[in-house]
Amino acid sequence: MARVWNFSAGPCTLPLEVLEEAEAEFVDYHGAGASLIELSHRGAEFTSVHHEALALARSVAGAPDDFDILFIQGGATLQFAMLPMNLLAGGRFASVSVTGSWSRLALTDGSHHGDLRVAWDGADHGYARMPAPGELDVPDDARYLHICSNETIGGIRYPEWPNVGVPLVVDMSSEYLARPIPWDLVDVVFGGVQKNLGPAGMAVVYLRRSVLAGANDDLAAYLRYSIHAAKESMYNTPPVFTIWMTGKVLRWMERQGGVGAIEAAAARRSAMLYAVIDEGWYRSPVAASDRSHMNVVWRLPSEELEAVFVGEAAGRGMIGLKGHRSVGGLRASVYAAMTDEGVGALVDLMREFRATHGGVV
Ligand code: PMP
Repeated sequence: MARVWNFSAGPCTLPLEVLEEAEAEFVDYHGAGASLIELSHRGAEFTSVHHEALALARSVAGAPDDFDILFIQGGATLQFAMLPMNLLAGGRFASVSVTGSWSRLALTDGSHHGDLRVAWDGADHGYARMPAPGELDVPDDARYLHICSNETIGGIRYPEWPNVGVPLVVDMSSEYLARPIPWDLVDVVFGGVQKNLGPAGMAVVYLRRSVLAGANDDLAAYLRYSIHAAKESMYNTPPVFTIWMTGKVLRWMERQGGVGAIEAAAARRSAMLYAVIDEGWYRSPVAASDRSHMNVVWRLPSEELEAVFVGEAAGRGMIGLKGHRSVGGLRASVYAAMTDEGVGALVDLMREFRATHGGVV
């Protein structure tokens, strides 16, 4: 069986041993005579899988006891709306640091449901860097500051967590559990699972329990954090396949050594790519201090050469390298399940391609 090196931004590569484990269990789940995805979500088999996934989401992240962990469908996108719906009742407002596509979407989408104000906007800087702490304009009475810790499209991350005196709400989708969560600073951390944690189908939301006390309950049931917390993420039929697989990936992460090991691997792999870029001919469009460890973006001298590069990569079994359609260029996403070998193959191609196409390095 030939597996490609998959650098896609999400859905993305998952650990082979996890896929094989699921394959072995898929048709007949542990002797049940049926697949887990065919069995009742209230039955013994899935109940056990569900609670184990929740427990792993707590232990791998190191989430304190005063945080609830919620599995909610609708991806990270639904959280853009649920956050202001639940947290901004009673005329409160929140600030948003706009650092690229995903925080901009959180602002525009969330503004349908609450008063969101811009704390900083990187548009003037081409979204090529994050704000310095002093640049964030966050009033003392803001309910929270929304940040996207790693902008998946722009390829930038906050090197340090902003500490602005109001709680943070953090979209960690593209570096989920690949970086420690600053529990003292946050009220909510959320992300879609389809990058580091599993297949598409839900978001994992870490919610400080005290937030529920003042939350808006005048919402349809599925949109209320309080319902998901009270029902342990089983209010309605949950995405059983996604939860099953996410549990397996979390257990795999634990075997790798947890968040610290995942973080170190991402730092090492992204550094391999930035080293080749910095040798020249290739160009990184983002500030060196704020470069993402998960989504490495770079440019070639022309769009034509970028297309040729993508074609040659495909010929060598590397896919998903085309930059997002809104920004162009190239992007290699090196999520938790990417390997040094895969990144090594890409590095080799980058060096050879540069030598062949006129790079003088
Ligand atoms: N936030 C970030 C940082 C993302 O990268 C993405 C998806 N790529 C989203 C939000 C939206 O996530 P979803 O597709 O799970 O709704």
